[in-house]
Amino acid sequence: MKVEGGCYCGAVRYASEGDAMMKAQCHCRECQYITGGSPNTFVAMPADGFRYTKGSPKQFTRKDLERAVTREFCAECGTHMVTKVPGMPMTVLKVGTFDDPSLGQPQMAIYTVDKQVFHHIPQGMPAFERLPQR
Ligand SMILES: [Zn+2]
Ligand SMILES: [Zn+2]
Repeated sequence: MKVEGGCYCGAVRYASEGDAMMKAQCHCRECQYITGGSPNTFVAMPADGFRYTKGSPKQFTRKDLERAVTREFCAECGTHMVTKVPGMPMTVLKVGTFDDPSLGQPQMAIYTVDKQVFHHIPQGMPAFERLPQR
């Protein structure tokens, strides 16, 4: 699939092409900070099919964690768009930053170990305490 998107103010834009590696909603505690409290809806796309097409993001990586992810966001409006996981050839895109968020329909729920009672998992959707086994 091909996805285009960007931040809320339009200063940073991206394009991503390839086969989606995972479409999910993540209930982890970390994602709750980033979303405002809900699960985070994301699509993992191949890293080699991803590029920024306008502007460039600010990056943040926690120093106190081993294997911390790097989060990329617009320095103007603060919208978080992309997460990069060390050692994984993928770019994790937040579906809310897609021009067409309907492309990001999640297929599973992950990290339900941190799920809040007000989080919703659609009936019939596979749910995993952490990540699905490979
Ligand atoms: Zn922006
Ligand atoms: Zn998460």
